[in-house]
Amino acid sequence: MRRFQFTISWRLTVWFFSIFFLGWLLFGLAMGLSLKSSLTNERYQTLARRLDRLQQLLDNSADENQADRVQEFTDFARATGNGLAEVRDANGNGIFPSPSAAARNFSWPKVDSAKTEQFLHVLSSGQPYWVLIRSYSAQGRSAYLFAAAPEAGNLIILAGFWRALLLSAPVLLLVSSIGGYWLSRTALRPVDRITAAAHSISIRNLSERLPVRRSGDELQRLAETCNAMLERLDSAVTQLRRFTADASHELRGPISFVRTVAEVALRNTKMDEESGKAFQEIIEETEKAAELLEGMLTLARADASSAGVALEPVELNAVLSEACTLARPIAETKGLTLLVNNHASRPAIILGDFSILRRLLWILLDNALKYTEAPGLIEVSLTIVAAHALIAVKDSGIGIDDESLPHIFDRFYRADPSRSQVEGCGLGLAIAKWIADLHQAELSVSSKLRQGSTFLIVFPIVSG
Ligand code: ADP
Repeated sequence: MRRFQFTISWRLTVWFFSIFFLGWLLFGLAMGLSLKSSLTNERYQTLARRLDRLQQLLDNSADENQADRVQEFTDFARATGNGLAEVRDANGNGIFPSPSAAARNFSWPKVDSAKTEQFLHVLSSGQPYWVLIRSYSAQGRSAYLFAAAPEAGNLIILAGFWRALLLSAPVLLLVSSIGGYWLSRTALRPVDRITAAAHSISIRNLSERLPVRRSGDELQRLAETCNAMLERLDSAVTQLRRFTADASHELRGPISFVRTVAEVALRNTKMDEESGKAFQEIIEETEKAAELLEGMLTLARADASSAGVALEPVELNAVLSEACTLARPIAETKGLTLLVNNHASRPAIILGDFSILRRLLWILLDNALKYTEAPGLIEVSLTIVAAHALIAVKDSGIGIDDESLPHIFDRFYRADPSRSQVEGCGLGLAIAKWIADLHQAELSVSSKLRQGSTFLIVFPIVSG
């Protein structure tokens, strides 16, 4: 399972989400508070207008008798809906008894005589109300005008607002998260392209460059900087390859000279036994050195793509037969059984180079011979499956441990040499891999320690 990574995209999304969430919260709070204050103000204005009318009414009825005034007040109270209005004296006694029972039973608050107007929030019968009290004096008589209005309507509007705000939260936050992720992904997509291109560049294709978008931004600079670095690496690696190729090439001469000299010296019949042994060792070591140099030169040329290989139709069974012909006498000498099975129902023709392919098979057979003890079995088979030809080289040898398996195609890699006394330089499978790549073939291995290994090459066959 892929581990979750807290990438820049995710971080930007979290930032975007947090900022949006905070903005939404502050905006919601500010809107809610401002709505509450404007609803309260609207209540105040309503009550103030009601008291203005009541005051007007009292002013205009100055000349009327008490009964007429009471009647007018009653009419006014009825006209104002629920009739929550009162006119009282400083001691709280009603000057005009309110026509509505609700007003009479209302818990009117105490008057603060120091103030000309009071706007209070009170509870009456468990319900919240706004009350406006205003002092009034006419013809030497002072009174207080009361008006009240329930707050319930405001509370319903406010509750509706908070509910709408909360219900909109998941949608808004989801949209903000998706939007944030989409924005950051879009902005960072060029980084992904650069990363993928950088990933695909290895020592084999150092001449490739990252795509540069002429956007004039940091990403263009990043791609250009990486390309400049690749340029330097490419030239350094090219120099190293040239040096390896030149050194391998130059060393071939002196080594073959040493070998020839040693061989000539060995022919001297008067040589004592010890000197003969020494010359024999020199010949063996020069053979190994020549093999190593040959491998290094092959790989150096392969790296420089200067192998100059021309591919032409090749019949795999013929390659297989030749390689096995070379291997058979060695197998017999070692006491090993070499079986060759051709399961192909038709000729397996691929585009390739006969001698290079024979070398690939020889590397695998040579390893099978080297790493299998007598009385072991080496089986080579050729099969055709759909548009592919499969060659398997299977042995019942010492096998490869899980730790070494991923590295055996690396240059100079040799699995724990203490397991076998086999000579080698660790370049064979690296060359085999290069040859497989050259033929667009897949070379893979499966192995079990002390049970044996199977090397499989899958070639694309020529259609028709
Ligand atoms: P070498 O010259 O050491 O054989 P190679 O590149 O051919 O180099 O192989 C790399 C290593 O892979 C070997 O050292 C050996 O440990 C392991 N190996 C390769 N083929 C086999 C095989 N058929 N059985 C067991 N081990 C093998």
